[in-house]
Amino acid sequence: MISFLDLYQVNAPHRERIDGSIERVVQSGWYILGKEGKAFEEAFAAYCETQYCVGVANGLDALTLILKAYEFPPESEVIVPANTYIASILAVTHAGLTPVLVEPDLSTYLIDPALIEAKITPKTKAILAVHLYGKCCDMQPIQQLAQKYGLKIIEDAAQAHGARYAGKKAGNLGDAAGFSFYPSKNLGALGDGGAITTNDPALAERLSYLRNYGSNVKYFNDYIGLNSRLDEIQAAILSAKLPFLEAENQRRQQQARLYLDGINHPDVTLPARTTLDQDAWHIFVIRHPKREQLIDYLKELGIQTVVHYPVPPHQQKAYAEWRDFSLPITEKIHQEVISLPLSPVHRDEEILQVIEAINRFSV
Ligand SMILES: *Cc1c(COP(=O)(O)O)cnc(C)c1O
Repeated sequence: MISFLDLYQVNAPHRERIDGSIERVVQSGWYILGKEGKAFEEAFAAYCETQYCVGVANGLDALTLILKAYEFPPESEVIVPANTYIASILAVTHAGLTPVLVEPDLSTYLIDPALIEAKITPKTKAILAVHLYGKCCDMQPIQQLAQKYGLKIIEDAAQAHGARYAGKKAGNLGDAAGFSFYPSKNLGALGDGGAITTNDPALAERLSYLRNYGSNVKYFNDYIGLNSRLDEIQAAILSAKLPFLEAENQRRQQQARLYLDGINHPDVTLPARTTLDQDAWHIFVIRHPKREQLIDYLKELGIQTVVHYPVPPHQQKAYAEWRDFSLPITEKIHQEVISLPLSPVHRDEEILQVIEAINRFSV
């Protein structure tokens, strides 16, 4: 069987370091907001090449807290890609703001910068640039628009740890960025975790209060904050794994290259390879017009796949008010995408087996 993603195997090479980290925290007697969290924040800021990092409880909170920290007027609008993972959009809603959906570019699955300007109104305050599947958004036109209209750029980098754009790292491409350390992400904890990176000292300080009841001195509360902290055990585990992230992303790139070179089925649309060596390849997504048949066929051969994602946000029950929206590119993507096995611990032989199976597929 070729698993889609085996998290036990992903963490196995780090097992001793992880065990050592946990033991160290247990022994310390200090479990929330201590030196492990601080050390990880410093290491992750250095990795992202930003001035500041603030650890939080998860990726959704990272994005929500950034949006809250800016204190935009109620009902301000935030531009988001229509095909993003639902969490990007939930963050806007939780911050009391209005998500405005923009179609992606079908060749990259990233927000189409050419379609953003038509959606900007006097209420627009920010663009949420989601680096979906591990590929950075086309930032230059987004930066131009942000400048022209005085908008903040917030990166959703939850799938893009270590990805680059024009030589800069994800997390350092806008005003602030939200990361997730959910176990399956490129840098994964053994539980929930998240972080915000920014070069804005005032924002970083505000966020360090907001994640902790709005307090920086115990029992003195300056803001109406949340409880959203990265705990010491997860921070210690993340510090242990971070030094290996670059090499793990390189393994992902090697597998992406194998897929891109090897799959030659006429009905399969491959992801863009233009930025192969800059992308973090969180997932490798192909399209096929008869997706369900391809999934079943691969399953018969013992090859696991996943669909990211089966239902677009505007067709989710949670956002019933968007039911009548017509977003044909987003809908096509959600009908046709399949994610193939890829991880730092998949072997080349396994990837080659998947390629061969796909190339032999006939409906
Ligand atoms: C995983 C993810 C999130 C949310 O992260 P959590 O830690 O699960 O809350 C947000 N945006 C994107 C694009 C994600 O993939």
